[in-house]
Amino acid sequence: MLACPVCKSSVRLNEGKNMLVCTSCGREYGFKKGIPVMLDEESTNKIEKEWQKMEKISIKSPLSIKLTRRLLAPLPYFWHEQDKKIESIIQKLGSQATYLNVGSKASRLIEGIINLDIDTFLNVTVVGDAHVLPFINDSIDCVFIMQVIEHLQNPFLAIKEIFRVLKNGGYVFALVPFLEGYHTYPSDYQRFCQTGVQELFSEFENVELCVAAGPGSTLSWVIREFIAVLFPFSNNRLVYSIIREITGWLTFPLKYLDIIMSRKKYAGKIANSFFYLGKKTRETVDK
Ligand SMILES: [Zn+2]
Repeated sequence: MLACPVCKSSVRLNEGKNMLVCTSCGREYGFKKGIPVMLDEESTNKIEKEWQKMEKISIKSPLSIKLTRRLLAPLPYFWHEQDKKIESIIQKLGSQATYLNVGSKASRLIEGIINLDIDTFLNVTVVGDAHVLPFINDSIDCVFIMQVIEHLQNPFLAIKEIFRVLKNGGYVFALVPFLEGYHTYPSDYQRFCQTGVQELFSEFENVELCVAAGPGSTLSWVIREFIAVLFPFSNNRLVYSIIREITGWLTFPLKYLDIIMSRKKYAGKIANSFFYLGKKTRETVDK
């Protein structure tokens, strides 16, 4: 089901060259660590620039280098019933269905899932760009896109691509950030409120839109950044990082308020993030 990301036609393996060759436009795609790299020149250059930008503008925690991860504060958020929701999708589609995780990093949500990311991270099975997915039309049963949308320059284009590669009747499951701090990996571009999420996935039939991490997670995230920025001499990166981690340790339990708060009627107004489950209910007609 791999396709040329440029013209969306299927590819075939040229064993002599050890390259995947587009059956239509003839573009060639190589392998890195045995993983197909389905990036055209434009995507390769764009991703390269993103990594360079990250080096320049991100606030890297010196603590993460100097101290072990054990000293870093726990994450300021947790997602309400994520495993249960994924389990119910697997029950709907079965274990033999084709699952794709766009922007997977090292996660492996389901056994046998296709993990796509912009580099050969652990567990990645295809290197590609979410804006030009390297899969043929109507070929995937379910696409996950978790904590990725904020990092995309053009999320509307990426969701259009997900619609294209999904089979009719297939599902998209997304974790979309709303109120959370700026975080690069490699870049950070935007957030979405509830109506924004609906607009983003407007081509899909809305199955469920609900709070993933609620107001407790928002508060927990904001308070550690707030105190770190407020603290004297925190223009110094090391001071900022130490204060943020100490405040993080003292305040992370606030996120557990979400056990009560996430399902409250107005939780979405200041939620940290949303889950969206959508269904594709018509064939892809273009291309
Ligand atoms: Zn092609």
